[in-house]
Amino acid sequence: MIRLDKLLANMGYGSRKDVKLLLKKGFVKINGSLVKDGAAKVEPSRDEVVIGDEVVTYKPNIYFMLNKPKGVISATEDDEHKTVIDLLSADEIRIYEPFPVGRLDKDTEGLLLITNDGNFSHSLMSPRKHVEKTYIAKIKGKVTEEDIEAFAKGVKLEDGYVTKPADLTILEAGSYSQISLTITEGKFHQVKRMFIAVGKEVVDLKRIKIGKLELDQTLKPGAYRELTGQEMEWLI
Ligand code: URA
Repeated sequence: MIRLDKLLANMGYGSRKDVKLLLKKGFVKINGSLVKDGAAKVEPSRDEVVIGDEVVTYKPNIYFMLNKPKGVISATEDDEHKTVIDLLSADEIRIYEPFPVGRLDKDTEGLLLITNDGNFSHSLMSPRKHVEKTYIAKIKGKVTEEDIEAFAKGVKLEDGYVTKPADLTILEAGSYSQISLTITEGKFHQVKRMFIAVGKEVVDLKRIKIGKLELDQTLKPGAYRELTGQEMEWLI
């Protein structure tokens, strides 16, 4: 249950003061009955709230895919830097209190999910779920067949942790190489540390896929959109 004035303010019908006026003027009905008291309690999933002749549809959760640009951090707040949440609209931030699902490094770009649904986020991040994440990267140095085999077996990171089998594909090999890498875990700086373990350096990193969900190529860096029903099904 939520207070009527809070629900209406959250849904973008103005400030609490504006909402009070709407109520006072007799514009608001709950389940067909006129209500003037902002303190009235509403169950959004059950009660029908109407303003004038418009039914208020309350959407408790948001699910966005964002093409994270480089230079912003995967957090909700930061004293120094712009965060991924700063890319959303002020209303979306105020109404939904969104947060990123997991994190990408400041200098990593690409697919990042934004939600306000804790269960959704937990389930995607759970190590038990082994959700595949695919990255494309530019590597300093020539990536070799030996690297493919090493990643398939698991490499030892500098802290002794041995990574789960990962699928490395060489797209271009030279003094700099282009690769694609699919991993099923999300250790801190994992991709960069895996390449360090085979003596190479990641110079550019972009996430392009989570599970079956691919980054929408039409989203410019910094742009985001709601996930479709089909995309949601792939993730849950
Ligand atoms: N691995 C990294 O090293 N960095 C990221 O941002 C994501 C995966």
